Amino acid sequence: MIEIVDLKKNYNDVNVLKNINLKIDKGDIFGLVGLSGAGKSTLLRCISGLDDFIVGKITINGIDVKDSIGKNNSELRKKTGMIFQQFSLLNRLTVYENVALPMKCWKYSKDQIDKRVRELIKLVGLEDKLEAKPRHLSGGQKQRVAIARALTMNPSVLFCDEATSSLDPITTSSILDLLRSINSTLGVTIVVVTHEMSVVKSICNKMAILNKGEIIDVGNVDDIFLQGRKSLRFVVGEQVNGASNLYHSDCIKIIFRNKKENELLLSKLSKETDIAYTVAWSSFDTYRGEVKGYYIIKFNIKDKNDLITYLRKEQVEFMEVDDHDE
Ligand code: ADP
Repeated sequence: MIEIVDLKKNYNDVNVLKNINLKIDKGDIFGLVGLSGAGKSTLLRCISGLDDFIVGKITINGIDVKDSIGKNNSELRKKTGMIFQQFSLLNRLTVYENVALPMKCWKYSKDQIDKRVRELIKLVGLEDKLEAKPRHLSGGQKQRVAIARALTMNPSVLFCDEATSSLDPITTSSILDLLRSINSTLGVTIVVVTHEMSVVKSICNKMAILNKGEIIDVGNVDDIFLQGRKSLRFVVGEQVNGASNLYHSDCIKIIFRNKKENELLLSKLSKETDIAYTVAWSSFDTYRGEVKGYYIIKFNIKDKNDLITYLRKEQVEFMEVDDHDE
């Protein structure tokens, strides 16, 4: 649905996007992550047709983004919505008028506008704020208005640029719940730029990690975190996998994607084998509402082959960690 091929972008002779190739599927909630200055927002602005680029091609549902750059009334504008960290509402207009704005620009009838605006304001839970001005709303409420406005034209894609970065954790979580439900009930594909890993774990199924204008990793969110991929260093700092002294040949990382497996496996291992082990490290987190994580177990090196045979027989997901480059 979104396809980016060989994209390059410069700002004043500085190459800020180097050679971006990426596919985002319909229905994904896709995270673009990276340290500040990595190029996330620039990439999002190129995909959404807000910024021009010289080299490469971007298509959304087959529509060439380049044809829409700088045009307000393009098909692409109609089929995509965008929300920002600073909400970008018009302060002199009411909530109702802010949400109605895109449909007014597209010259819909008053009745059509009224029906859709009320529907969307209900969807975002602000029925009692129809006539309020943005200055009388909290940050979370302002972002709800921005979300309603972004959905007026029934977009197939919603772009979110650090949409929760200025909100407190509880408000962030309620906005993320709203985005998740928009994705699942309306089928809207969502592309999220964020530097917050908790946001990615909470709503994204896939992610790409950017560093200095390049995509250095792309994949399922739980794979990237549970496998502790090296690329995560560029978003969470040096220590990705816990204590680095656990990355030796007498340690194995056992990955759990399902809580029930997790409860059973270690006790089964003790009961069914003579392998002695200690749990040297564990880390669990919630990914889109499901608890997933890993244990690093330390054992006597002479038992390594037996342990690996047992884990394979039980079809347990595990990684040897001795070659891990921490
Ligand atoms: P991120 O969103 O990952 O923080 P940005 O996409 O905002 O990164 O920026 C990527 C690089 O492009 C940075 O080095 C930034 O300074 C530069 N940049 C962004 N916008 C502009 C601009 N309008 N003019 C010049 N340089 C820019």
